[in-house]
Amino acid sequence: MQPPIRVTIWNEFVHERQNAAVAEIYPRGIHAALAEGLGGNTDFATRTATLDEPEQGLPPEVLDATDVLLWWGHAAHDAVLDETAARVQQRVLAGMGLIVLHSGHFSKVFKRLMGTSCALCWREAGERERVWVVNPGHPIAAGLGACIEIGQSEMYGEPFGIPAPDELVFVSWFQGGEVFRSGATWTRGSGRVFYFSPGHEVYPIYHHPEVLRVIANGIRWARPQGAAADTPRHVPAEQARERVEPRGGSVAHPGQGA
Ligand code: ZN
Repeated sequence: MQPPIRVTIWNEFVHERQNAAVAEIYPRGIHAALAEGLGGNTDFATRTATLDEPEQGLPPEVLDATDVLLWWGHAAHDAVLDETAARVQQRVLAGMGLIVLHSGHFSKVFKRLMGTSCALCWREAGERERVWVVNPGHPIAAGLGACIEIGQSEMYGEPFGIPAPDELVFVSWFQGGEVFRSGATWTRGSGRVFYFSPGHEVYPIYHHPEVLRVIANGIRWARPQGAAADTPRHVPAEQARERVEPRGGSVAHPGQGA
């Protein structure tokens, strides 16, 4: 039996404490709702972390003990320290999975890993969203039908300023007519990244069973896949697998002898 997947659900935890409508849907916070909603997955060992905890909830010992990190942020992107974002980025490069939810598209963590604007169009009108499965064979879409119906959602529309995804899993249609690449994956270093857009805080989207299924599938897909890439190292001719005759000059490289 495989060891449990160590999941950390990080939430800035701002709207739920400032907005009564959000608090009604998520009285203990989006992080707690997600932890509860994912609780039936016995292969997960889940913890939560929030911005106001020491070291913004993500000290090295927490990140080192995390296989997959979930990220929900919106109002407090700027409050996340660059050093916190850099620590998360380094852990992803070393193999930790990352699932960025909804407004996390504009987080420092996601923008660092994507290297692009990550900007999009939006509208808050409580309109219908259909999250179409465009890649039914992908493990993140396992167990879903043709689409997920979300009765009330915030519109996120194209163009979405992301690098071309490695894989596109979902494309959303909105009642107002827009479309959006709502589920996409990338690999960064040894780590897997999944962005999933449904999850606006004033609608009960994280209580939707199929949304929770996607997140659970995403966690299993994003779990670390193996060893991180080695750090660069010089391999002298005498250590080569086959005999090589060094010839010509050699240019010194930083941090190396020759
Ligand atoms: Zn939103």
